Amino acid sequence: MQNEEGFTVRKIAVLNQKGGVGKTTTVANVAAALAIKGQRVIAVDLDPQSHLTIHLGVDPDSFENGAYEVLTKSASIADSLVNVRENLWVLGANIDLVGAESELVSEVGRETIFHEAVETISDDYDYLIIDCPPSLGLLSLNALAAVDEVVIPLQPHFLALQGLGQLLQTVTLVSKRINPSLKISAILLCMFDSRATLSSEVKADIQNFIGNSRGTNCPWADADLIPIHVRRNVKLAEAPSYGKTIFEYEPDCNGSRDYAAIADFLHDPASFKKNDETVEIEEHVKEPAEEIMDDAVIETITEEDITTPLTELVIETEEETQQKIVTEENTQSTETSEQPKYQIKEVSPTEIIAPRAEEAKEDSH
Ligand code: ATP
Ligand code: MG
Repeated sequence: MQNEEGFTVRKIAVLNQKGGVGKTTTVANVAAALAIKGQRVIAVDLDPQSHLTIHLGVDPDSFENGAYEVLTKSASIADSLVNVRENLWVLGANIDLVGAESELVSEVGRETIFHEAVETISDDYDYLIIDCPPSLGLLSLNALAAVDEVVIPLQPHFLALQGLGQLLQTVTLVSKRINPSLKISAILLCMFDSRATLSSEVKADIQNFIGNSRGTNCPWADADLIPIHVRRNVKLAEAPSYGKTIFEYEPDCNGSRDYAAIADFLHDPASFKKNDETVEIEEHVKEPAEEIMDDAVIETITEEDITTPLTELVIETEEETQQKIVTEENTQSTETSEQPKYQIKEVSPTEIIAPRAEEAKEDSH
């Protein structure tokens, strides 16, 4: 897939300013699945929490150059990649990235620094997939300016659609003012529980919403609701602590099957739809989805918005400050004697993160 700039790298940002919806799990496992298929993949950690870096088995204190050095222009991407698996490289994040936003505040063109860095990547790579932080601040803006596609993971619970309007508005502004090739290519339901009525309701709302945008010129007009949902699977929650992808930690589980299929879909949606007849592909029904439309309507973007500096329009979420990493040893393992290297602990509003007790009950295969 060659873009207008002559690159052959497919550039995707996985973004949702809500915390704990499955961004990092998706980037780590989709990147790994694509690498296993023979695609050459760069996974970029733009989140100071460093969860992606840890998930892929890299100690955030171990590398000399990472996302921070690239954003502050003290290193190129090429000099900062760590080869973590066959066909898979990571641009790591560490705690230095916390300071990047404030350090760049007076920099002209601060939203496009990462875009400029990405332009220097050779076309030896097939994919560049960015794990964004849970905010719509400067780091996420840099991701949006650098990619062609956005994938939005959503956790289908009762607050799933809250904030989606702000996210869509930000993508629209970036596409109008910084990066005209930016599109929302897919929405992915994560931690899906087919037994819960609410999951199905959220799914129907999203389908209606996408259906209504077909034929318009908004950035999500051609978006797919990925027809494979990531089911709740405790193995997906355990794997990061061991620095392993799901394919290494438990290749024979629902999490592994789901992410392998999702990578196939993202790689080639057209042939996936044609070849895999077992996957249900729903038609997008043309009915208004009040819940999302109220929140997301792009008519709310005024002329004043278009002339206001972009960084003044985006709002940091409180979740960013409510999340922290606890790195400690001797964490519990349910089914293996191997000790995890890290424990990733989130402190998030309970209404945003589903209760952990539900995960424990979940199907382990
Ligand atoms: P943040 O906004 O903090 O960066 P995130 O959107 O990147 O969060 P993840 O870290 O991927 O979200 O997932 C949140 C938590 O849920 C993690 O503990 C992860 O291991 C777990 N998790 C993700 N997907 C699943 C799933 N399908 N089943 C069970 N647990 C999951
Ligand atoms: Mg994350």
